[in-house]
Amino acid sequence: MEAYTKIITDELQRLEETKTFKYETPLSSPQKGVVRVNGREVVMLASNNYLGLSDHPVVKEAAIEGIKKYGYGVASVRFICGTQDIHLELEKKISKFVGCEDTILFSSCFAANEGFFPSLTNEKLGYESYQDVFYSDRLNHASIIDGQRLCKSSTTVKRIYEHADTDHLQTLLEEDKNNDYRFKIIATDGVFSMEGDLAPLPRLVELAREYNALLFVDDSHAIGVLGENGRGTPEATGTLGKIDVLTGTLGKGIGGAAGGYISGSNAMIEYLRQKSRPYTFSNSLPPAIIFGAMAAFDLLSEDSSLVAKLHQNTSYFREEIKNLGYTIIEGTHPIVAIMLGEAPLAMDMSKELLNEGVYIKGLWFPVVPRGEARLRAQISAALSREDIDRALEAFERTGKKLGVL
Ligand SMILES: *Cc1c(COP(=O)(O)O)cnc(C)c1O
Repeated sequence: MEAYTKIITDELQRLEETKTFKYETPLSSPQKGVVRVNGREVVMLASNNYLGLSDHPVVKEAAIEGIKKYGYGVASVRFICGTQDIHLELEKKISKFVGCEDTILFSSCFAANEGFFPSLTNEKLGYESYQDVFYSDRLNHASIIDGQRLCKSSTTVKRIYEHADTDHLQTLLEEDKNNDYRFKIIATDGVFSMEGDLAPLPRLVELAREYNALLFVDDSHAIGVLGENGRGTPEATGTLGKIDVLTGTLGKGIGGAAGGYISGSNAMIEYLRQKSRPYTFSNSLPPAIIFGAMAAFDLLSEDSSLVAKLHQNTSYFREEIKNLGYTIIEGTHPIVAIMLGEAPLAMDMSKELLNEGVYIKGLWFPVVPRGEARLRAQISAALSREDIDRALEAFERTGKKLGVL
């Protein structure tokens, strides 16, 4: 056992030395615009709480109502006795919101993505022998990568196209044109978390049609966030209703608690209810989450002002941080990458900003390429104009102090 412990502690030491050890900072408050850290109030610029629903009175009340009416948990997977009418109701609401025929819930989007790929590729489905192929964006989320890792290597071919590079993707599709693949699946994040950039969905839709492939989009960072009504990257790019398989999380913009989903055609969702192992063999979502998420979708469907406030806050922050003299990656998403260059600077900046009352995370190699260390700000509708101004003032002081400005 001692030998085992040594292997593990050596690795922990290596993480410390290479500055890739992940430290956790405990919050002593709900997730919101201003949070409590080490006894101080700081402006939160690092959460996925895009709409401020994590601490929204309507969502919290709904979750409490859920517990009162339907209990704490169901103590079952869906197909034994874990389906309450509210699960079906939430699935309908999501389908309507994202413009798909049907939806299936998972305990997380990570589970949804792990549940999707192997449920198709690891089944013979009447074929004696077959091969399936994935075309995956180089920067896809870990859950897509792991979902594809669960597919048998003997029957799946994995091809990676350069980030958002539809010409490269077309080259790969063209190369494979005469291969007799059973399923061809193009997989992409809707929004990429390191830069806040959008997948080129209109072109991906065209390529999927042209090459008879299925288009899979994970819209976790965009559901409730992008588009005038918060319907996600498809709404923002004019491809609503054209994505074959759309996955997402309820753990970011939609309340930030937990839960994930896959939306698609009736046949696809019906199939996944039969074959998707994290659905079939894992507990169903608790009523508090279901009620909270339903309240979130109702809020969004009735009134687009929260989404509008998020968009206003985002353009204000993007404009003002540039006016201070910082370099950002241009875009429209509330993820704002503030480019600094070298890792030590990003580390010092994020530490100093916390002292100045701003909670923000730095990203550096190997999470992003060498020399592209950055701070990643995430803007929220939970922030008031005063909160944002307070953060901008801290950016100005800190930037001058550390010689960035
Ligand atoms: C956050 C995220 C996930 C994971 O969602 P969970 O519901 O927290 O498991 C999956 N995919 C993408 C693209 C994400 O950004």
